[in-house]
Amino acid sequence: MKTVTIYYSDDFKKHDPTPYHHPENPNRLVLALNSIQHLENIHIVEPPIGDVQKYLNVHSNAYYSFIMERILDSDSVVWVDPDTYVSPGTIEALKRLAGSVESSLDMLQDDRGPILILGRPPGHHAGYNGTGLGAPTLGFCIFNTSALLAVILHRLGKTLVFDFDAHHGNGTQDILWEKDILHIDIHQDASTIYPGSGHPRDIGGKPGTKININIPPRAGDDLLEHAVSIVDQIIAGYEPDYIVVSAGFDGYINDNQFVSLRYSEYTFYLLGRTLSKYSNRIITVFEGGYGLGLSNGLQWYILGLQGYPQGPKPITSSDPSTWNKYKTRLEELKELIGLDPGL
Ligand SMILES: [Zn+2]
Repeated sequence: MKTVTIYYSDDFKKHDPTPYHHPENPNRLVLALNSIQHLENIHIVEPPIGDVQKYLNVHSNAYYSFIMERILDSDSVVWVDPDTYVSPGTIEALKRLAGSVESSLDMLQDDRGPILILGRPPGHHAGYNGTGLGAPTLGFCIFNTSALLAVILHRLGKTLVFDFDAHHGNGTQDILWEKDILHIDIHQDASTIYPGSGHPRDIGGKPGTKININIPPRAGDDLLEHAVSIVDQIIAGYEPDYIVVSAGFDGYINDNQFVSLRYSEYTFYLLGRTLSKYSNRIITVFEGGYGLGLSNGLQWYILGLQGYPQGPKPITSSDPSTWNKYKTRLEELKELIGLDPGL
């Protein structure tokens, strides 16, 4: 079994909406840590304090300044849009995220992965100028750690970004649109959920570098397993040196009220196991997941990454109309990116 290094700091809890109630709150990390503490072969490490200006690799000066002014000029929670807040402690959380990025680079180059950055605030909805691809808000995200890692790692070797959060990683797609970095994104169908982007036709400034697999509401493990088999073939053809994963656990059945996917432990194990086949140079960034997905999904994803041989059995299944919707979207995608229609 592989050892997974987990970057965690209590400073990640200092991004805090109190006195407001918000689903993206420090308790998410309590749930996550409680659920993994019994696992073997995990190594929890506090990341160093890093340089937040690193995020200027993937965000405009204007957006970076907009956020920093709101964090630093206030002694209480500030809403940057109707969904998304910063608090005075957000700066300390961001410094630890930047430190996680910095210290992971040597480890990845030395093949000492897999790594999980168990931090917050999340980032995959944050685009170059803030909201990405016409999204109404930043969707709880501040700076895009996955995109930052991808841009840095791609200078060292061929890099894949894989995003399985239930929502489309619109910020990541926005930042990487013109770049020759493969970004595969599996998410609830773009027409049914925030941020409304991630259609099959979004194939990138360099066509085929962005791949969006749309999963209809109510899909279960069986359908996701099919989607993973497609991803598996694409990754095998791409042969990445580095893999950056935007991991969201919000597709777990009844994790939260915003998502209509119905994945069980099986799906998250399968995702981890599939990715771990390709490289030890794999780094996972924690994105969404608000309840049961953290308690039940995260630990099985880690076990999958470790190569744990006995996964759980699939539980949830999809009805014929869900399968039909999925296959229609998939055919559209296969034609656009020239995938083998037999897949
Ligand atoms: Zn999400």
